[in-house]
Parts: sequence; structure tokens; C-alpha cells
Amino acid sequence: MKEAFCRICGFPYEDNFPWTEIDGKMYPSREICPCCGAEHGFDDDLKSSVIVYRQNWISKGFPFDVKEKQPKDWNEQKLMVQLKNISAEWL
Ligand SMILES: [Zn+2]
Repeated sequence: MKEAFCRICGFPYEDNFPWTEIDGKMYPSREICPCCGAEHGFDDDLKSSVIVYRQNWISKGFPFDVKEKQPKDWNEQKLMVQLKNISAEWL
């Protein structure tokens, strides 16, 4: 099993997934999310950290960490659509 979406912001990964299951255990990629800037395995390993990080990021205006990957017209509406990717256990 792989998690294809950032637990914090719902960013959709096409490869290098943030979390991958190996022998029944989830392992993080340790990469930085291009959208919210969280480190997978550090900022998103606990539900409490996920919620705090998300709240802080949204309150700062949900800036895209890697500007080259930012969709055109990144706005609150696009954010709301992206947040729907997040599994209920991380909300
Ligand atoms: Zn993210």
C-alpha cells in the first residue's frame, strides 16, 4: 500500500509517494512536500502534528513551497479541492 496524497495538504504525488507500506509497516519518503513544505516522516507522522502543521500553513496563506510546481491561479478554491484528497484519519 502507498499513500499518494500529502496527509497535511492533499498534494497528489505521481511518484516518490510520501508513505509506503513495507511488511505491514508504513515508511516515509523523508521528502519535503512541494506544496505545504512538510517533511514526510517528521511533520506528518502523528495526527496531532498533521493538524497543527495544516492549521499554521493555512493561517499563513497556504503558500506553495516549490513555486515551479504551483498551479496557476492557486487560491482558496483550489486549496479546498486539494484538501478533499486527504484521508479522513488525518483530518
Ligand atoms: Zn503537503
